[in-house]
Amino acid sequence: MELYDIAIIGSGPAGLSAAVYALRAELKTVVFERDSMSGGQVLNTDEVDNYLGLPGINGFDLGTKFREHAEQTGMQTISAQVMRIEEQEGIWTVVTDEGEYKTKTVLLATGTRHRKLEIPGEERLSGKGVSYCATCDGAFFRNKEVAVIGGGDVAVEDALYLSRLCKKVYVVHRREEFRAAPSLVRRMKETENIELILKFVPEEIFGEGVVEGLTIKEREEEKRMTLAVSGVFVAIGTVPESEIYKGIVPMDEAGYVLAGEDGKTQIPGIFAAGDIRTKKFRQIVTAVADGANAVHSIEEYLIKGR
Ligand code: NAP
Repeated sequence: MELYDIAIIGSGPAGLSAAVYALRAELKTVVFERDSMSGGQVLNTDEVDNYLGLPGINGFDLGTKFREHAEQTGMQTISAQVMRIEEQEGIWTVVTDEGEYKTKTVLLATGTRHRKLEIPGEERLSGKGVSYCATCDGAFFRNKEVAVIGGGDVAVEDALYLSRLCKKVYVVHRREEFRAAPSLVRRMKETENIELILKFVPEEIFGEGVVEGLTIKEREEEKRMTLAVSGVFVAIGTVPESEIYKGIVPMDEAGYVLAGEDGKTQIPGIFAAGDIRTKKFRQIVTAVADGANAVHSIEEYLIKGR
């Protein structure tokens, strides 16, 4: 069986950046991705306005450029679901639904997935008006009224994107202050068809077969309101895609893999890059940098061990 130097799990900006650095270092490299359309959250971003050198680039275009670059460098990808990783005598096995692969090191770069509201109606109406991706599903709500839930960058970007398609966009946020970048918040407040509903939390999404509305509750006063919307876009943050590595690599309470900027975890041979690792600032540019740093650490590990 082939023995890889590095198995990269995940093909978002961190994984693809790592692939470019690993291939240029002539490491025997393989990248695992869940499906051939993987590429991370960047693909579902409308406009990326803070990636140096490419102001205002569309997220899908940026993600496609990342991928093309990695492919030109000779990236080998395997579309498979990774089930677990196991170690024996310093060699790791990546067990997937398509077979097993041996590697000297593993780079965890699986990022995060959308957090759920966990309220009645959310699961039942998911894909029937409840969405976690405005750029994927926004077009279904042309000239309709929708609600966006959340107050971070994603929620505000989603609201701005949807305001160009929809008749009206309600932004329901549980506080008065936004986490999103001030420039985005200013643009949102200046947009006529966006209405902010602050200090409210969603209570129930209802509808017969499709979303017909959303009940929200004021946090302190228990006051309730119903919004007659046909779409609910949930943008309340993310949770790490790290469950299958529990018990193998140490994590913080929220499930982020404990690793510094050098990508080293506490387990020899396991490294982490991008949104999956403990860090303060989750951005495309920091994920890309993580990929490079982790490969540098992996090269050192392969040459002289830890
Ligand atoms: P985020 O920054 O964690 O924001 C999540 C928002 O959802 C917060 O406003 C939070 O409220 C709210 N929230 C969380 N749980 C909730 C619940 N159960 N009910 C109601 N509201 C809830 O997440 P994000 O917007 O997905 O962004 C993720 C990361 O990607 C961030 O680091 C962000 O900066 C980054 N990002 C950057 C860009 C960019 O630079 N262009 C674009 C997209 C994403 P509180 O504020 O009250 O906690």
